[in-house]
Amino acid sequence: MRAFTYERPDTIAAASQAASQPDAAFIAGGTNLLDLMKVEVERPTHLVDVSRLPLRNVSETPDGGLHIGALVSNTDVAADSRVRQHYPVLAQALVNGASAQLRNQATTAGNLLQRTRCPYFYDVAMPCNKRKPGSGCSALQGFNRMHAILGASEDCIAVHPSDMAVAMAALHAEIEVHTPSGIDRKLPMSELHRLPGQTPDRDTSLAPGELITAVILPPPPAGRQVYRKVRDRASYAFALVSVAAILDVGDGKVRGARIALGGVAHKPWHPEDAEQELVGAAAQAESFEAAGQAAVKGAAGRRDNEFKIPLAQRLVARTLADLALAKGG
Ligand code: SF4
Repeated sequence: MRAFTYERPDTIAAASQAASQPDAAFIAGGTNLLDLMKVEVERPTHLVDVSRLPLRNVSETPDGGLHIGALVSNTDVAADSRVRQHYPVLAQALVNGASAQLRNQATTAGNLLQRTRCPYFYDVAMPCNKRKPGSGCSALQGFNRMHAILGASEDCIAVHPSDMAVAMAALHAEIEVHTPSGIDRKLPMSELHRLPGQTPDRDTSLAPGELITAVILPPPPAGRQVYRKVRDRASYAFALVSVAAILDVGDGKVRGARIALGGVAHKPWHPEDAEQELVGAAAQAESFEAAGQAAVKGAAGRRDNEFKIPLAQRLVARTLADLALAKGG
């Protein structure tokens, strides 16, 4: 690990200012950053420790939503009674991620900002455009079983690893950000993460020094919610494909549908066409199968990950069908 300087500012404004200098990085739980620093993939010269800022509360918003502080641990979000009751898709996504020890340490903002687990990104001996722009993408011709089938580019086919972010995308969460200029801004969850394009080194739309201070969940959507994750092991494994689904059914018809996919793209994938096709359709297998097909429209597989296309399609169809048949709220 390379030498770095360290500070622990007392205020959000000071932290944001401190991290706006070149090669500075925020640290809170450190569950991903420290690993990356040890293998010299991340080489910040200055660490800004935000772990003691007052961002550990979950509170209700005036409109009936939830305001989740950026430093609330993954464990605490998953255990919050309001999350469990009104946003079960989020609680389920969280407990499907990582291990109990990691969830105790990992923060809400850190989970969103974790980096891809593409093995070539972590191997400094291999070309990787995300780690070293212009060096090439080893995964294109390499082992790419875990990689993207949607929204990828010829410069990067990595996927975002978070489960939590997929549920937040389905819930249409907003991200609250403090900027170094002192202004607070909000952005939709869908605009936080980027597709790789020709600049895969940039994971998000955040500028240097911009500090995520909270995630805001809108009032709970109507209907039933579930998070389903397909992976190689039953625990402590990243998604091959996952889905966060919310389905509102009445009088035999779909009144509302939300779908977000994980493990398939550089960001949580939001197949709006599939959602739109479902609304007003009969709540039956044919509609859900059509939604599964629409959810993977434009998907392209590589040597080792073609299987993800039918897997995602079937996962969406089956999950929606199960939600339609489920008893209770
Ligand atoms: Fe690097 Fe992206 Fe290629 Fe992986 S997929 S080697 S992260 S450029």
